[in-house]
Amino acid sequence: MSLTSSDKVYHREIILKKRNEVLAGLSKELNEGVHKVPELKSSLGSDIGDMSTLNTSSDLSAAIAARYADMLREIDQALSKLEEGTYGLCEECGEEIDGRRLEALPFTPYCLQCQKKIEEDRKKRRQS
Ligand SMILES: [Zn+2]
Repeated sequence: MSLTSSDKVYHREIILKKRNEVLAGLSKELNEGVHKVPELKSSLGSDIGDMSTLNTSSDLSAAIAARYADMLREIDQALSKLEEGTYGLCEECGEEIDGRRLEALPFTPYCLQCQKKIEEDRKKRRQS
């Protein structure tokens, strides 16, 4: 995918919007300290599945804070990749990330295949 400057503007807007959502979600979380796990799961996406294994609310708070921090880092990386012209390429295999995936997860660094592979590796590491 070679991005035209209007593509860049388009993607930057989506990413910045997502960034605001994440920041708003994080401050809401910090202020209220209320954990509605199903709601969080839907707003943070499917890769938060790990949360179901957490028992205490402090575990949950820590996991949520870590997840938000991860997302902000991914978002900032996505913005700098946009500047460098490498936005939309998978960091793992270098292939183009599916457009629909980017729409849903505008800051994802990996294509669906690599994301799956990474998650499976993580699971295996936890089990062993
Ligand atoms: Zn990939």
